[in-house]
Amino acid sequence: MYLKRLEIQGFKSFADKTSIDFENGITGVVGPNGSGKSNISDAIRWVLGEQSAKTLRGSKMEDVIFSGTSKRRPLGFGEVTLVLDNKNKEIPIDFSEVSVTRRVFRSGESEYYINKTSSRLKDVRELFMDTGVGTDGYSIIGQGKIEEILSTKSDDRRNLIEEAVGIVKYKTRKKESERK
Ligand code: ATP
Ligand code: MG
Repeated sequence: MYLKRLEIQGFKSFADKTSIDFENGITGVVGPNGSGKSNISDAIRWVLGEQSAKTLRGSKMEDVIFSGTSKRRPLGFGEVTLVLDNKNKEIPIDFSEVSVTRRVFRSGESEYYINKTSSRLKDVRELFMDTGVGTDGYSIIGQGKIEEILSTKSDDRRNLIEEAVGIVKYKTRKKESERK
């Protein structure tokens, strides 16, 4: 499994539809300060379901939508699509390519799609559970994350290890069935 493509439109500084292709290997993103490098990693977090505006370096979720410039009007919605190669079926779905789309309107309403089919945030979460991908996964190591892992409470560290060994799904299902 690897990140193949990211399509960003109306998200943060990406007003026009921008498609970024990644190869299987290491990709470096370089550019001047303020050119949008961190906005790319924000887009990845966001499409995977990030709910915290603060984590996305904003104060409210609407801040992710292109807010306009002196020459350009703000946009009404923002959209990000992430495409993963899934030839090795690491993601438990019978497709060799998996795409996830999230769209948000100024009203705050978010829509999610898995392979172009309307889905819930819960479906996106479940799809990536135990794969390391996702907002609670370890595929995105943000600034300060390593330190956090080293100094964090043992329970939080345990959550990370459980995600890595692949038992979060079962624990979540157990919790859900106990609630019913
Ligand atoms: P650095 O090298 O300093 O880390 P960077 O390349 O990571 O910079 P980003 O933080 O990704 O830069 O981009 C910041 C830019 O994105 C700023 O110019 C900011 O105005 C712009 N930006 C953020 N949110 C929006 C938005 N909603 N609409 C328009 N532009 C936005
Ligand atoms: Mg940055």
